Amino acid sequence: MRATKVRNMLHTIEREARLTAPLTGRSAFDPRVMDAMKQVPRDAFVLPDLLDQAFENGPLPIGMGQTISQPYIVALMTDLLEPEPTHTILEIGTGSGYQAAILAQLVQQIYTLEIIPVLAAQAADLLLRLGYDNVEVRTGDGHSGCPEHAPFDGIIITAATTHLPPKLIEQLKPGGRLVAPIGLPDLSQELVLVEKDQTGKLHTSDILGVAFVPMTGGPDKRRQPT
Ligand code: SAH
Repeated sequence: MRATKVRNMLHTIEREARLTAPLTGRSAFDPRVMDAMKQVPRDAFVLPDLLDQAFENGPLPIGMGQTISQPYIVALMTDLLEPEPTHTILEIGTGSGYQAAILAQLVQQIYTLEIIPVLAAQAADLLLRLGYDNVEVRTGDGHSGCPEHAPFDGIIITAATTHLPPKLIEQLKPGGRLVAPIGLPDLSQELVLVEKDQTGKLHTSDILGVAFVPMTGGPDKRRQPT
């Protein structure tokens, strides 16, 4: 039963990838990414009363007003990062820890920042229990990034921001890739891929419309959760 649900989730991701190929430029995701989607138990990252929906292709609430993204979007963002086994990746917005676990299957080291302490603590606990020893969860505001471990091969922001935090751009390696939903909260945003070339120049492409919870904190602290 569970295996069937996982298989169906993978088929749905493959179908959506084909359907959105005109927008994303990729009709199929890297087999390594699909394998990570198969291996990571999404049912461990959802609330107990939503277990029956764990493998459906939709976002789900995780408490504290936050959500775990839909599997297709997780796969797409992971694929856009083009993760390599030697990479160190920074994630902003740990949430449940699911996206971090997917990346942990694919790269050497993940640093992930979560602004809500209770979510950070829960995710750190869960990732440890599941055996992911290459993920470091930190409580903090992602606008500052993680300067002590920079620069990063890839940066993924999983909360919507109106502008790319300059410190995150600084902390991206030449040749690195950053994926983020850009736009106003409560409206649909654009998933954006930023590639930093070897000279440090940025190349930005719009991928497709998405809907994420807002990135809080930042220089304007008024939206910081209490
Ligand atoms: N990647 C997560 C889903 C993210 S939901 C997963 O796989 O489950 C977005 C998360 O970003 C929320 O948990 C929210 O609290 C967090 N967040 C919002 N603003 C942030 C900021 N400035 N710094 C770090 N985390 C932030």
